[in-house]
Amino acid sequence: MTAWTLAYDGFDPASEGLREALCTLGNGYFATRGAAPESSAGDVHYPGTYAAGCYNRAVSRVAGREVENEDLVNLPNWLPLTFRAQGGDWLDLSRMEVLGFRQELDLRRGVLTRFLRVQDLQGRTTRVTQRRFVSMADPHLAGLETTVVPEDWSGRLGLRSSLDGQVTNAGVARYRDLEGRHLAPVAGGRAGDDAVWLLVETTASRVQVALAARTRVSGDDGVLAAERRFLEEPGLVAEELATDARQGEAVTVEKVVALFTSRDRAIAEAGDAARGRLARLHDGFDALLERHTLAWDQLWRRCRIELGGDGDPEVARVLNLHVFHLLQTVSEHTIDLDVGVPARGLHGEAYRGHIFWDELFIFPFLNLRFPELTRALLRYRARRLPEARQAARAAGYRGAMYPWQSGSDGREETQRLHLNPKSGRWLPDRSHRQRHVNVAVAWNVWQYYQATGDLAFLAGYGAEMLLEIARFWASIASYDRALDRYQILGVMGPDEYHDGYPDRDEPGLDNNAYTNVMAAWVLCRALETVELLPDHRRTELTERLGLAREELERWDEISRKLRVCFHGGDIISQFEGYDDLEELDWDGLRRRHGNIRRLDRILEAEGDTVNRYKASKQADVLMLFYLLSAEELRGLLERLGYRLEPATIRRNVDYYLERTSHGSTLSGVVNAWVLARSDRRRSWRFFTEALASDVQDVQGGTTAEGIHLGAMAGTVDLVQRCYTGLEMREDVLWLNPSLPEELDGLDFDLRYRGLWGINLHLTPKLLRVRVAACDGAPVRVAVGGQVVELAPGSTREFPL
Ligand code: BGC
Repeated sequence: MTAWTLAYDGFDPASEGLREALCTLGNGYFATRGAAPESSAGDVHYPGTYAAGCYNRAVSRVAGREVENEDLVNLPNWLPLTFRAQGGDWLDLSRMEVLGFRQELDLRRGVLTRFLRVQDLQGRTTRVTQRRFVSMADPHLAGLETTVVPEDWSGRLGLRSSLDGQVTNAGVARYRDLEGRHLAPVAGGRAGDDAVWLLVETTASRVQVALAARTRVSGDDGVLAAERRFLEEPGLVAEELATDARQGEAVTVEKVVALFTSRDRAIAEAGDAARGRLARLHDGFDALLERHTLAWDQLWRRCRIELGGDGDPEVARVLNLHVFHLLQTVSEHTIDLDVGVPARGLHGEAYRGHIFWDELFIFPFLNLRFPELTRALLRYRARRLPEARQAARAAGYRGAMYPWQSGSDGREETQRLHLNPKSGRWLPDRSHRQRHVNVAVAWNVWQYYQATGDLAFLAGYGAEMLLEIARFWASIASYDRALDRYQILGVMGPDEYHDGYPDRDEPGLDNNAYTNVMAAWVLCRALETVELLPDHRRTELTERLGLAREELERWDEISRKLRVCFHGGDIISQFEGYDDLEELDWDGLRRRHGNIRRLDRILEAEGDTVNRYKASKQADVLMLFYLLSAEELRGLLERLGYRLEPATIRRNVDYYLERTSHGSTLSGVVNAWVLARSDRRRSWRFFTEALASDVQDVQGGTTAEGIHLGAMAGTVDLVQRCYTGLEMREDVLWLNPSLPEELDGLDFDLRYRGLWGINLHLTPKLLRVRVAACDGAPVRVAVGGQVVELAPGSTREFPL
């Protein structure tokens, strides 16, 4: 067990789904769950392969209504590879005796290995080693190598290798009443002497997906003669091979697969691309693996985060796991695609592969290492600006209103009904009222600009999004003459448990503090952006958007007069009227139900509603302390005419922590952050809890449906930005370290403002900043409030 290995001993059907998600291999173009190659979808296994951005719509009938959903499509399974000893059954761990089982995910190299010893029903023992990768060097390739050693038998060894396009989307139990068929078979067949190919098409989006698989058999002395038989069914192609196996001698089967879709660039047609790629591929598994390993080496050089001293090795391992899955979901191979970051990775079907505000938690790590990647991911939003404008118009607003859940074309993909598995009832889903997703889009544009100084992007794409989002906030805000305040009514905050008032029919809440304060922040940044733009571009954009001086003046006014409610003196009310809600009997509920993270479902099943209570799913008000430094928040509130005394922050944090059930894995990240300086012990507890989110499946079953990428990236970002106190403001890289006691130090590299290799080395007593030599301009760094210029090639130590 090292900081670079995730290992499982023993075959455990109950945890197979979790292992499959955590052992997913991917390269930012496609990913495949760590399912056993001989398995098919059922109660134990769920093989799944997903290509970034490959969605399909389908209509289902539930609760007497037709609902349409768009899903990230489960693509044909390329893994199937199984064997049998002469006259025996195909490998089946649920029926055979498993004498040995170990599975290891090598995080450094991106290789999943399975060691297996099985005894078949005839009593013959076979040893198997399987290795696989999804190439980080060539995004269209993957490989699976199976080495079979007959321990106590000799005879014919049967093998079967297939491409299975008969799969459906069936990975999430609560979606199973919904239509899961997304693929229609198109073509397939043999592709040369040792390969097969398959072409399928998504039923509505008409994306063609082609796979070609080459299967070769060799022994210790080279290629083994094998008899081959081709088999075909609609949507499935297979080869059965047979060769002579001798006791104690290894037979190695190598399956190399190419995957293309009709959305790819620089191809003529997907089937032709997949077949052609394989036909021209002279390398075998080992050579491909070597290139894949080199690609991972290089990634880790950029992304390593070293924890000093002999801190908890588990922390280092889980952080590596989190970076690993982030890089498998989005990588340099994503840059040419038109995609955002799905909240659950490319690791499962939960949330249908949709893109939420979670990018807010994910981009900070990428901004400081792969800015060209965040730039590409932001362009996914930029391309959907017309759709966001349309959505705003349809709702009676101006500007751009991005959807809470986004998929292929940027329309609102949030389901209108959701199933409470606890009560079995389909209920209205109002979560699309989380207009704050627009804050996240604007925030991400701004943070990218801060990290890179990329004015070309800001002028070309970013500013238009920011200005249109600002315009949306200005138009959704209504003026209350009596209060002389602007209000934002009928929305939801990040806390999804509250979707309305208990005594009101219309959905939504008024004056959600997070939304209003951050809307003011967006308006300020939009005004700043107008100033920043080169004259030519400012004129172009203001002309094109019809943005007159009076409108900018109105933005300025709204940014000073948005309403924030308080109660109990200085507690920022999550929304107007929050204080009128009842206190929840947390202890009683815990006694009755044990785990109450999803208390919305528990209460609904009891005929009650969480809307009646002061009880939140996740950080909402506390998001303000997460995103904004105390000074920035104080400034913003002052602009709005409110005072924030330093002691107030702690009181707000305590108040809301007592009233939060942490039903989202994002909550732990935010809480760890907001407590990092005031209550380190508690902060560390939240941090380790957030680290455990997926690896220990703390929500009891959700990780099997896909990892929680926001929490994964968020924990890494805590180490990166929170513990170093890193902020990017006013063209300065601010550092204000505060190491938790549990960490002896930190060491990692950043890219900032065009400079590669800014090394931060932190111990409890010292911060060292080293800028690698290059041609670039100096960076302005501030430690302890003192701003210094660091030229490339220089090092500076700051005693703490
Ligand atoms: C959380 C949201 C999040 C979504 C996707 C939900 O459970 O409440 O904040 O965006 O999951 O990760």
